[in-house]
Amino acid sequence: MDFDIRTQPIGKEKDIETEKALRPLIFDDFRGQDKIVENLSVFVCAAKMRGESLDHVLLHGPPGLGKTTLSNIISNELGVGFKITSGPVLDKPGDLAGILTSLERNDVFFIDEIHRLSPVVEEYLYSAMEDFRIDIMIDKGPSARSIQIDLEPFTLIGATTRSGLLTSPLRARFGINCHFEYYDESVIRGIIMRSSSILDTKISNEAAKEIATRSRGTPRIANALLRRVRDFAQVRGNGEIDLEIAQYSLEALNIDKYGLDEIDNKILLTIIDKFRGGPVGITTIATALGEDAGTIEEVYEPFLIKEGFIKRTPRGREVMDLAYRHLGRTKESLQGNLF
Ligand code: ADP
Repeated sequence: MDFDIRTQPIGKEKDIETEKALRPLIFDDFRGQDKIVENLSVFVCAAKMRGESLDHVLLHGPPGLGKTTLSNIISNELGVGFKITSGPVLDKPGDLAGILTSLERNDVFFIDEIHRLSPVVEEYLYSAMEDFRIDIMIDKGPSARSIQIDLEPFTLIGATTRSGLLTSPLRARFGINCHFEYYDESVIRGIIMRSSSILDTKISNEAAKEIATRSRGTPRIANALLRRVRDFAQVRGNGEIDLEIAQYSLEALNIDKYGLDEIDNKILLTIIDKFRGGPVGITTIATALGEDAGTIEEVYEPFLIKEGFIKRTPRGREVMDLAYRHLGRTKESLQGNLF
C-alpha cells in the first residue's frame, strides 16, 4: 500500500479532531523555530503592553511546518480573536470587505496561501493594511460611487509556501517577516513524544526516533505517521509503540527510510539518470519533471539540501553520495549514460 502522507495528511474526520488536539496553543508548547518564536514573543508582549495591534506578519516556508499553528498561538497570546481564510477562497473584494469589517480591535486575520490572492483583492488589502481603511464601490452605472469605511486596527498574518510569488507592494506591507526551516530530528522527536502523551499512547524513545527520521523534518508528517503507527500498535500489538512495531508499520506504509516522498525521489533520479548527477540548472530539472521551477526551489529542494542529498553549485544542482547510496546507484554506472 502506498501512503502519500504529504498530499493527504488528514483523511478522516477522526483524524481532523486528533489534528486539532495536537496543535500547540501557546508559545511554550511550540517546539523548534527558536529564533522566530523568541522574536515574536517579544513583539507580541510589546504590542500588548502598548494596547496596539501587532504589526503585520508574513510567515513563509514549506507546508506542514507550523505556520497556521503559530498564527493561532499569536492570537491566543495577544488575547484577541482569530479569523482565518485563504488566498484562493477570497476571490471577491466583497468577501474581503465582509471579513475586514467584522474584525474587532487588534484581532488577527490569517490568510493562508496569500500568494494566491487575486490582484483585485490584493489591491484592496493594501489600504486596509496600511491605513485600516477600505474604499468600497456601491451601486453600479452612473450612480456608482465609492465610500470609505474605517476598520478597527488588526494584524494580518499571511502564510505562504511560495514567497517568491508575492508582489513587492504586498511584501513591503509586512513589518515582521519569518522564514520557517525544516525541523531537526531531535525536535521532531520531542513533538512526537508530546503528541503521544496527548493521544495517551506509550511510545519508546527509539520508536519516536524511528518515526522522526522518516518525517521529512515536518511536524505534520510526524503527527500523521504517529497516528498510523498507533493504529498498527493497537491492532497488531499491545497498544504501545516500541521500535519493532514502529518499523513494522513504517514498512507496511511504504515510508522511505529518509522520509523522502515521490517527488523528492523523482528529482534525485532525474538528476542522476538524465543529467549524470549534475550540475544541472533548476529550470532544466523542472522541465524534465514537468514541475514548476519555483515549487522545486522553494518547497522540495531545501529539504534535499538540508539532508545532504543535493548541493547548489554555481553551475547548478549536483547530487551527492547519499543520493546515489539511497537510490542504489553508483557514479561509475553512469559514465556511459547520455541524456
Ligand atoms: P502549515 O500551516 O505550515 O502548513 P500547520 O500549522 O498546519 O502547518 O502544522 C501542521 C501540524 O503540525 C499542526 O496541526 C501541529 O499539530 C503540528 N505542528 C506544527 N508545528 C509544530 C511545532 N512547532 N510544535 C508542535 N507541533 C507542531
